[in-house]
Amino acid sequence: MSRSRSVPAPRVGFVSLGCPKALVDSEQILTQLRAEGYAIAPSYDGADLVVVNTCGFIDAAVAESLDAIGEALTENGKVIVTGCLGARDGGGFVREAHPKVLAVTGPHATAEVLASVHAHLPKPHDPFVDLVPPQGIKLTPRHYAYLKISEGCNHRCTFCIIPSMRGDLVSRPIGEVLAEAERLLRAGVRELLVISQDTSAYGVDVRYRTGFWQGRPVKTRMQDLATALDALGREHGAWVRLHYVYPYPHVDDAIALMRADGAGGGLLPYLDVPFQHASPRILKLMKRPAAPEKVLERVQAWRRERPTLTIRSTFIVGFPGETDAEFDELLAFLDAAQLDRVGCFAYSPVDGAAANALPAPVPDAVKEERRARFMARQAAISARKLLQKVGTTVDVLVDDVVEAGSGKARRVEAHARSAADAPEIDGLVTIRDAAGLAPGEFARVRISGADAHDLTGTPLR
Ligand code: SF4
Repeated sequence: MSRSRSVPAPRVGFVSLGCPKALVDSEQILTQLRAEGYAIAPSYDGADLVVVNTCGFIDAAVAESLDAIGEALTENGKVIVTGCLGARDGGGFVREAHPKVLAVTGPHATAEVLASVHAHLPKPHDPFVDLVPPQGIKLTPRHYAYLKISEGCNHRCTFCIIPSMRGDLVSRPIGEVLAEAERLLRAGVRELLVISQDTSAYGVDVRYRTGFWQGRPVKTRMQDLATALDALGREHGAWVRLHYVYPYPHVDDAIALMRADGAGGGLLPYLDVPFQHASPRILKLMKRPAAPEKVLERVQAWRRERPTLTIRSTFIVGFPGETDAEFDELLAFLDAAQLDRVGCFAYSPVDGAAANALPAPVPDAVKEERRARFMARQAAISARKLLQKVGTTVDVLVDDVVEAGSGKARRVEAHARSAADAPEIDGLVTIRDAAGLAPGEFARVRISGADAHDLTGTPLR
């Protein structure tokens, strides 16, 4: 039977902005569009309509999203907006800036986006469902994928408007999450990155309801999820990395499951824990979950249990009312906790965040100065820790292979990541003399050099 179409498929352009959670939404929309027989256009002028998935987290992201919508309207004219910015004022915020958009939805709204696409660009009549690969459409490289386990958040951190945009926590059924994980691994994914707003709260909303996986009952909660993903990771020789975990007592159980170094796959000795600050008063003003006074103890206990554990975190400096003494408290925490990977933001007031009403905003120059001091302090810690890796052997996952230099100096290098490095946010391991390696392959590397963030090494063959 011929599979050629008499009429070309309608073409949808797609712009995906924002965090990994938004990326997963984009993948779901794209997968559905392809399943219905739409084609995805690589440029505005080749598209019959454009979907823009927006971010509304900080002012810079809002500006980027509004610019992207404006550009899509100028270049194409038919634009549907989705994502976090679309939720603001029930879509009113976007419509006020760009009244010509065809439709606006909030995040996690695949069905609504598809309904709007159908209204403005009718569905093709002969979709070939088998045009969609079994793992769906991925926007990440083939060898790693984000696995979203829940949507929304039950906390009310005063600097954050995510709960007002995405709503309270809604956990995905555990059987569905594990089926997706298995599909991805079977399709060749070598690393799963578990994401949510609060991974440790998984299942709270459904009272840890019992689901089913491979014919066995399994509870919708972090410990059961980590156990099942660890088993799947080992079965397929793939890594599993946990993001956005809060230091609650039950996280200790996940630490016990972690492999020492990632060799052979399974749950990595890696935790992404957004601490945000260390001063009890500032944490209270931020309304952060988890008791600050216990955090250092917990970090130290985790390290005793799993000495190879990498802890990644993010912090905000210059939060309203932050004094010099409270900032010094934060620096002292950095010295004591010796975290491996750290990101730092100068506080930026987000429209609609409760923290904007707090007294004593910190002047921009002071915020910047604190951020620079914080990063310099952490860079020294990181450099010291990475130097200790020189001379050791680590397992890495290759992300890409490039040719560097020219003529006789021409060489093949690979960029890879160890168990300590999540994609996009952490460091890299540059592999010299990488001929024969390919993206998505694991390799064993002897580390020969280090700087404040990255490592270099040569493959052991
Ligand atoms: S935990 Fe706090 S910062 Fe994170 S999404 Fe929830 S409210 Fe926002």
